[in-house]
Amino acid sequence: MPNSSGELTESELQELVEHVSLSFFNRPFLHQAKINRRMTTTGGRYHLTDHHLEINAHFLQPQYHDELVGIIKHELTHYHLHLQNRGYRHRDTDFKLLLKKVGGSRYAPDIGLRKKQNPKFVYKCQHCGQKFKRVRRINVRRYACGKCGGPLRLVKG
Ligand SMILES: [Zn+2]
Ligand SMILES: [Zn+2]
Repeated sequence: MPNSSGELTESELQELVEHVSLSFFNRPFLHQAKINRRMTTTGGRYHLTDHHLEINAHFLQPQYHDELVGIIKHELTHYHLHLQNRGYRHRDTDFKLLLKKVGGSRYAPDIGLRKKQNPKFVYKCQHCGQKFKRVRRINVRRYACGKCGGPLRLVKG
């Protein structure tokens, strides 16, 4: 039974992974696909120890279906190459060629899951009083106020 949000369940995910595996790799996926609800910046992960795949729960929503298939192909590329004792790491030629062949995603698609960095430094324009927040320290001798061109001063950081 599909749940109300339209998000894939773990057994539907398992079926999809098995299906993608047969149709694009001509090989069966014989291990487990699991949902990971704590992943933020990665789409999925392949585990070398017990060969299971984890997929970021965010991509199980219907609007991310294409991205999900791209992630599954990426993780299956690790999976099949590893099981065949071929180059399964990102830098390996086997990996690059097979990923390209099946059309897998190279990186986790950015759907705004990356945590926002908190600005640590606050600068204030000494001329107009405008405040600027920055994650990193800036050189106040090289940067001026974006509004009026006045000199900046660090007020917090
Ligand atoms: Zn990878
Ligand atoms: Zn200013």
